[in-house]
Amino acid sequence: MTNEDIMNWLTRTADVLQEKRSYLTELDSAIGDADHGINMDRGFSAVREKFPAMTSQDIAAKLKTVGTTLVSTVGGASGPLYGTAYLRAGSVAAGKQELSSADVIAMLEAFLGGVIARGKAQVGEKTMIDALTPALTAAKQALSEGATLAEITSRAAAAAEEGAKATIPLVATKGRASYLGERSAGHQDPGATSSWLILRSLAEACE
Ligand code: ADP
Ligand code: MG
Ligand code: MG
Repeated sequence: MTNEDIMNWLTRTADVLQEKRSYLTELDSAIGDADHGINMDRGFSAVREKFPAMTSQDIAAKLKTVGTTLVSTVGGASGPLYGTAYLRAGSVAAGKQELSSADVIAMLEAFLGGVIARGKAQVGEKTMIDALTPALTAAKQALSEGATLAEITSRAAAAAEEGAKATIPLVATKGRASYLGERSAGHQDPGATSSWLILRSLAEACE
């Protein structure tokens, strides 16, 4: 994955989060405070504004810019969670001009690790973790089978989509949705859904 592919990933992410702004907000209106799409679009629109300044940055610096921008522009849980994820992903890329398949997986692992470090959620609590964890597992499995980066990221995205859909029957025990208790069941988690969209953008950038 080259620096240009990273830029492509970030551009696609900003595009899809803008496009799915209403959908993500609708999901959040069922079990939260109806702002997840607004939050994500605000954050990535601020990232988009930094694209010109980011052209000369290496991969690590780009990802760190995304992280700090999300932390500073997104109010709500998702800002610090995704902010930490991109900051940690950036640390893994330090000094690299290009990422191998193993590097991309290490980046995903750090991304997930950032969300866990910040939010202390486990699998099954109806959060982003429920999309990111199966995605990482699928990516590692694909790598072990000798798959190409395009296949690895596409299988990760497919697993994230499945994971996001599998949050529907879950009862939330972390975040705002947990205030609803049992009533949170029957709705897809907004954060797991945005995590899937972020990984789908990654797969598209690696095609
Ligand atoms: P807020 O809940 O502050 O309005 P958002 O609506 O932007 O923030 O984000 C909500 C999403 O954040 C949830 O759908 C969930 O996926 C995720 N989330 C909330 N708390 C946690 C946590 N502790 N760990 C991981 N993800 C979390
Ligand atoms: Mg919300
Ligand atoms: Mg909110």
